[in-house]
Amino acid sequence: MSTDALARLEQTTSSGPLTHLPIWSEVDAADVEPGITALVESAQAEFAALEESVVPTWAGLVEPLERIEHRLSVIGTIMHLTSVKYSDELQAAYDKVRPAVVAMSNTMNQSRPIYEAMVALQTSAEGHSLSIERARILDESIRGMERSGVALTGAEQDRYKQIKERLAELSNMFKTNLLKEEMSSRVKVANEERLDGVPDAVIEISRAQAADDGAETGWHFLVNAVSYLGILQHATDRSLREEMYRAFRSRGVQPEFDNRPVLKEILELRQEQAKLVGFDNYAALSLDAKMAPSTAAVWELLDQLEQAARPAAESEMEALAAFMADQGAEGANDPAPWDIAFWSERQKEALYGYDAEALRDYFQLPKVLDGLFSLITKLYGVEIAESSDTNVPVWDPSVQFFEVRRDGDVIAGFYVDPYSRPGEKRGGAWMNTVVSRDRLLAAGNAESSLPVALFVMNARPPADGRPGLMSLDEVRTLFHEFGHATQHMFTEINEGGASGMNLVEWDSVELASQFNEYWMEHKPFLRALTAHVDTGEPLDDDTLDRIIDSRNFLVANATLRQLHFAKTDMALHQRFGIDPALTDPAQVDIDMAVETLVTPRLEDESPLPAFGHIFAGGYAAGYYSYKWAEVLAADAFAAFREAGLDNDAELQVVATRFRETVLGLGGSRPAAEVYRLFRGRDATPDALLADQGLINVA
Ligand SMILES: [Zn+2]
Repeated sequence: MSTDALARLEQTTSSGPLTHLPIWSEVDAADVEPGITALVESAQAEFAALEESVVPTWAGLVEPLERIEHRLSVIGTIMHLTSVKYSDELQAAYDKVRPAVVAMSNTMNQSRPIYEAMVALQTSAEGHSLSIERARILDESIRGMERSGVALTGAEQDRYKQIKERLAELSNMFKTNLLKEEMSSRVKVANEERLDGVPDAVIEISRAQAADDGAETGWHFLVNAVSYLGILQHATDRSLREEMYRAFRSRGVQPEFDNRPVLKEILELRQEQAKLVGFDNYAALSLDAKMAPSTAAVWELLDQLEQAARPAAESEMEALAAFMADQGAEGANDPAPWDIAFWSERQKEALYGYDAEALRDYFQLPKVLDGLFSLITKLYGVEIAESSDTNVPVWDPSVQFFEVRRDGDVIAGFYVDPYSRPGEKRGGAWMNTVVSRDRLLAAGNAESSLPVALFVMNARPPADGRPGLMSLDEVRTLFHEFGHATQHMFTEINEGGASGMNLVEWDSVELASQFNEYWMEHKPFLRALTAHVDTGEPLDDDTLDRIIDSRNFLVANATLRQLHFAKTDMALHQRFGIDPALTDPAQVDIDMAVETLVTPRLEDESPLPAFGHIFAGGYAAGYYSYKWAEVLAADAFAAFREAGLDNDAELQVVATRFRETVLGLGGSRPAAEVYRLFRGRDATPDALLADQGLINVA
């Protein structure tokens, strides 16, 4: 019976006040298809009934919608298991049912009767007296629906639908072209000497590729990021670097995989789409859901950063050329595009070189977690301890479950899945939410459910009596992800739609995470995380300095590179298809590159046909968000610096304010307003520029 399958998938349990914990180990691949099919059917029926009989009140409209969304969230449990307990059966079942769940939430977001009821609620007496967070949930839902065309009628509505379908096709085509091209192009090497310097792992892949291609000898490099970085950063053979550079930088223009007409049509349709729903251009539509108040404000920030970074970027290139001359490098007087990555790696090694593998011995997982948890305890006045409840459901015996308490009361919980499990666990590190703080999910007389998060890492498992060891990057990612989780776990909002990270604008969502990473730049704190696995000794001063200082190596050029992308993205979505003088998107990109970058490049080189972020990802008129959030994080951390990073009492005052505003209020109010509550003013780029050594602070 399919309803039995659904009941099994939807089973949850509790650990004290932490409720709605999925029983991970009982999710059976065989239940997924019948269970989710039954779920979608019943959700459709419930939704259709709601559309029929909807009453424009909070209880008659918003709550029933949220309840349906809660039920659909079981798909998240299955998705998580495909990443940490992979099996072909589970993945196939998930792939089969996911589209129906996505279609169901689209239907809900595009329902005219629901939209009309929301507008009626907003303008009713109840609507005028809603709490701040409810008013925001309602307003954001209405605006989101309007942006997706729900208010249109007749021919305009038909056209909108057509555009949407075509855009989905085009971005898929964009991605597929790049994939197909990657699979079909090769940089071939016959002579082993040419591989000098290339990392072994990259050589192995290219040898296997050659064998796959039926070549008995030689190496075939796919034209992708792995080969590109391996060769451009490390191959001593300059002509090999040139060959790979030219191949990689001309992706998306070969006749069979030409993305140029695709992206042009995407841009034109986006402009038409924006106009249909009442915006001057697509950039304005994109910003309607973001923290940045206007395209002018985005340009102002990009210009400020560029002015600060440009002179520093020029000095960086001069220093690199001097280093090349010193090393007797070919092309030192006039570096070619394919010299930059290679020689900057050599320069970085000379200036800051440390052995990344040897560093692992200093980052013992239990000690790193302790250091992170005591930081969180010191800042936010909570205690973190592993749960003593041995019945908490986990997906693997190595997974740990922690409780977060304030004044003795549990306020949140989180899972940590620390070690790599080749074959069933995806690489990398990430966090996810499991349960949100939500009045509608409250059990017993609780005010609301309590937030639960999960962390997945891929640290090296314990072996031979030694604890698990982490790379520096893994430690940094853990801090980043834990920063996201503080916003989820310390939320003070009981409305699920606006608690935690929900409704936090896209361009400010990386504030909490990048802020938390900043602690690793503080030497005493970084030192305290380290202890050699055999001797217990902390990392020496010189290496700590190298780690911290290397973060700013070539930072001005990295900034200009990001600004080039951000400016191109913004200019295209603001002006292409509107300003008749702009006929070729690539020209916009090339002009921006000439204006922004100080590194050598090929004259007609344009990364646009391979710029998946904006043509096949979620970054359209949003690439600037990287910089926007960095500015926020640096400015927020500056408040802690001003208090004194080693002054615990003052630090706690700032941290409490941060917890009560940025972390506690999250998306329940506009990000700019929340930030002002924390800082007493808007963020400025000064702190970021000072941290990166791009301006001098008095
Ligand atoms: Zn993040």
